[in-house]
Amino acid sequence: MPFGRSKIGLFRWRLSARLLIASSIATVIGFTAICANVMLDMRRGEETLARQSLETLASSIDADLSRNIEVYDLSLRAVASNIVLPEIKNVSRPILQLILFDHAATAKHFGAIQVFDAEGRLTADASTLDPVRENRADEDYFKVHRDNPDVGLYISGPIMHRGAYSIVLSRRISGEDGKFLGVVVGSIRFTYFQELFARLQLSEGDTICVLRKDRTIIMRRPFDLGVIGKKISDLPRGKQPGVEPGGMFSGVGPVDDIPRLYVRVASNSPLIVVVGKPISDVFNLWRTEAIRIGALVMALIAFVLAVTLFLAREIRRRAAAEDKLEELATTDALTGLKNRRKFDEAIEIEWRRAVRYKTPLSLLMIDADHFKAYNDTYGHQAGDQVLVGIAICISDAATRAGDCAARYGGEEFAVLLPGQASAEAMMVAETIRRKVQGWSDEPTISTVSVGIASVTPTAAMDWHAFVNAADKALYAAKAAGRNCCVMAPIPVLPLAA
Ligand code: GH3
Ligand code: MG
Ligand code: MG
Repeated sequence: MPFGRSKIGLFRWRLSARLLIASSIATVIGFTAICANVMLDMRRGEETLARQSLETLASSIDADLSRNIEVYDLSLRAVASNIVLPEIKNVSRPILQLILFDHAATAKHFGAIQVFDAEGRLTADASTLDPVRENRADEDYFKVHRDNPDVGLYISGPIMHRGAYSIVLSRRISGEDGKFLGVVVGSIRFTYFQELFARLQLSEGDTICVLRKDRTIIMRRPFDLGVIGKKISDLPRGKQPGVEPGGMFSGVGPVDDIPRLYVRVASNSPLIVVVGKPISDVFNLWRTEAIRIGALVMALIAFVLAVTLFLAREIRRRAAAEDKLEELATTDALTGLKNRRKFDEAIEIEWRRAVRYKTPLSLLMIDADHFKAYNDTYGHQAGDQVLVGIAICISDAATRAGDCAARYGGEEFAVLLPGQASAEAMMVAETIRRKVQGWSDEPTISTVSVGIASVTPTAAMDWHAFVNAADKALYAAKAAGRNCCVMAPIPVLPLAA
């Protein structure tokens, strides 16, 4: 009986256990995805925050640097334009000094402005009326201005200038016809950068890099003489393209191997400012939070899965117990065959199936012969053993899937043979009869009589009449002398209810 109630029940239980596991897994996946998304959002938030604070830092450095260079450049321009005025050719040295350097910047970290002629000789110095003999014709800034009239403000790489590391700012002095007449030179000492950086609130691993447009490192924090004055492209890791103005880069920079978030401010300044913060610092708070939330989520997931597995096991255990109970409720305790209740269910289902598919259905009613006498002679327990023996013979003979062998009551058995017509049913009945006869020993040979009914039912028929027909055939077998099989004549009865 393939679709009995127990199978359906078990199927339902199994389904609910699977459904429970599937829904738990779906919940866990959904929950994990949401948490991961929230944590990634938080990470992006931290990155944006770090970027904003780095941009603010870079902007403030850039603003200070730009302003100072601009002010200093104004002085250089004034000197470069005043020195070629024809009116000053005949003025005395102190007056010339006053005219040239009156407005010259004299801030703390700026060197005195100097003027060199077309041969590189020092001709005027803001710091003295009596300049020493000096020639700078070999310096880069001198050659650059001599060979290119349109350089404008030229900023040198870091050099030792008057005993201190400085960068030199210079402008060309050109005659009316554009002729090279010399250069005017000023310097910004590194102490300027050191003081500027010291004013800022920086963490241990933060970096600030000031570069020339050709990516020569002018100044860097932390200070490293090994890289100052070098071009980025000459460093081992300097081949990668630099950060775009206003852009951001996350990774290992050219100078050291600490991964950082680098930000470059967009500005018109002649110098580039790039600031960096170690990635580990940027995501420090986030990491702690992520680990905390991650651990909580993992614990929650483990708990949910453990509870799910426990419940699923419990559901399966209950399903098995229910199955067992169902089995017990439908089985005859003595013979192990199906009981009468189960038989009634089976015939109901198989009858309807046979009607639907127009297939034959056969029924054997089997009764032990002279069983009362056997009981009286050998006792009730010996009688029980005979019943068990008969049940075994029946089970051995009715082996097809769907065959239903049941103890119908007392010493009577019923075998339902779906899909089997009268000839096949007669063969099964004969097999049972012979098996029982052959199995029991002399002198107490037990035999059975079998009544057989076989029909291809229609919707108008009722199975109770079918059972009655088999019963009648059984009486006929008894009447015919027992230990024989009798087929009910079809139609033996009007099978309609
Ligand atoms: P017949 O050949 O006409 O069937 O004779 P019979 O003696 O078998 O007929 P009857 O129906 O009069 O007797 C049935 C007997 O089966 C009565 C009862 O003692 C015995 N019996 C019924 N159920 C059981 C059972 O569970 N165990 C045992 N040992 N005997 C049973
Ligand atoms: Mg009987
Ligand atoms: Mg009997």
